[in-house]
Amino acid sequence: MKIAIASGKGGTGKSTIALNLAYILTQEDNITLLDCDVEEPNCYLFLKPEFADNKKVYRNIPEFSNEKCTGCGKCVQLCQFNCLALVKNKIICFPELCHDCGGCKLICPTNAVTESKQEVGAVEYAQINNLNFVHGKLRISEAMSPPLIKEVKNYANNFKNAKLQIIDCPPGTSCPVIAATEDADYALMVTEPTPFGLNDLKLAVDMVKELNIPFSIVINRSTKENDHIIETYAKQNNIKIAAKIPDSMKAAQVYSKGELIVKEMPEFEQYFEPITLLIKDLVK
Ligand code: SF4
Ligand code: SF4
Repeated sequence: MKIAIASGKGGTGKSTIALNLAYILTQEDNITLLDCDVEEPNCYLFLKPEFADNKKVYRNIPEFSNEKCTGCGKCVQLCQFNCLALVKNKIICFPELCHDCGGCKLICPTNAVTESKQEVGAVEYAQINNLNFVHGKLRISEAMSPPLIKEVKNYANNFKNAKLQIIDCPPGTSCPVIAATEDADYALMVTEPTPFGLNDLKLAVDMVKELNIPFSIVINRSTKENDHIIETYAKQNNIKIAAKIPDSMKAAQVYSKGELIVKEMPEFEQYFEPITLLIKDLVK
């Protein structure tokens, strides 16, 4: 069972929800936490793990031989990502746009295309009591995170002892989020009760609907005064609100010290209970 913790924007508390849920659930069972926010992984700051493995991840980048290229332009026409241009019968490649589909190599009639490997980043793994923790760290200046996210997920699939994977997704609704979310069985959409939070929640909801993933909402930094912003939208669209995590200065201070809220403030566990019950029901 794969549960994606997603949000339309950064800073809503997605990692906080993922980490605290993982902490609660590992009290009873072996689970896997994946930090797929590979551009800015931060779960490790709270878990403080000793990594047992570090695996470099590469992607293929096409290279073009001026000697063999006839300038037919077939590769340029094929490339869906506008990585290639034909200038004075020579191919210019923009590797940062390349999605490693291999199409240009396959279509070239003169074998002018070869591939070189470029490091994308690394996958790291640590075992912390009952928790298998895997995250990805994108190489600085690397723009293409989906190949690394896929490797984080492949790595996590090795842990057959864990019935549950919690996936801390990147924020937003673009390719990296889809790479992290696409095979999830359920998504928890984390938002905050503000007009900005609602705006980005709507985009994220459209995305999970498109992916056909069942989902519910978690309101983080919930307040009696502002929750109606999200509640009205949820009611109008028949979306379940799974839980509300209250706004709390003390919780924010615990977070800012890099500590887990439910560990330092056990009274907070009650707010996560509706989500843990929901997940236990899904895993059955
Ligand atoms: S591998 Fe695919 S995405 Fe990359 S340049 Fe070739 S056709 Fe374009
Ligand atoms: S398909 Fe091959 S020969 Fe044609 S432009 Fe591309 S690299 Fe050159």
